[in-house]
Amino acid sequence: MTRVIGLTGGIASGKSTVAALLRQAGAVILDADQVARAVVAPNSEALTRLTKAFGEQILNPDRSLNRQQLGRLIFNDPEARRVVDEITHPLIRQVFEASLAGLKRAGVPLVVLDVPLLLEAGYQRYCDQVVVVKVDPLTQLSRLMERNHYSRREAEQRIQSQMPLAEKLIHADLVIDNDGTKEETAAQVDHLLAKWHLDDNLHSMV
Ligand code: ADP
Repeated sequence: MTRVIGLTGGIASGKSTVAALLRQAGAVILDADQVARAVVAPNSEALTRLTKAFGEQILNPDRSLNRQQLGRLIFNDPEARRVVDEITHPLIRQVFEASLAGLKRAGVPLVVLDVPLLLEAGYQRYCDQVVVVKVDPLTQLSRLMERNHYSRREAEQRIQSQMPLAEKLIHADLVIDNDGTKEETAAQVDHLLAKWHLDDNLHSMV
């Protein structure tokens, strides 16, 4: 049996850090950003449709997607964003479902869905449990400013545009508190892994 864990949290809450720890422990990570990039590869159905909708201006000279240019076009234009989502989201979901089915067939014991908008996009339906990585707002702000070289204002805007943490926590089966050191976070991840291992052993005994 494959255990499917959804990993989410706010921007710079520590999702990648936790995903890396789970990967080290043998989990297979399904990364939504990676799938989203693959779906708009050169000559893909999605890129062809995007080019029809927005013109050749969204292509680089080598006909790959110019993400910055597309980002500029949909920034502050909800209708354009809706068109992009309508073209890409169903294809991302299809690739995601196919990858997950393949991993289950292969009997991979632990799959982690690393999806920033897991709850917003309804991906918790693929998960046995949802893990939310939590961090206090000031720590989140300073980690985001440092990692992305944002000003305080830019970082605050990015954080405010997301679903509030309190709302994410309502959907959480498990919470990792990433306010402390990376070592303290690693200890919580170890604890979860031990618990899942124990649950699997109990399950196989009945
Ligand atoms: P996310 O994937 O949720 O956006 P990251 O895992 O990239 O967040 O973490 C955001 C930043 O904070 C990164 O630069 C990371 O190295 C740092 N970071 C994460 N957890 C800790 C921690 N417990 N202590 C100190 N820095 C941390």
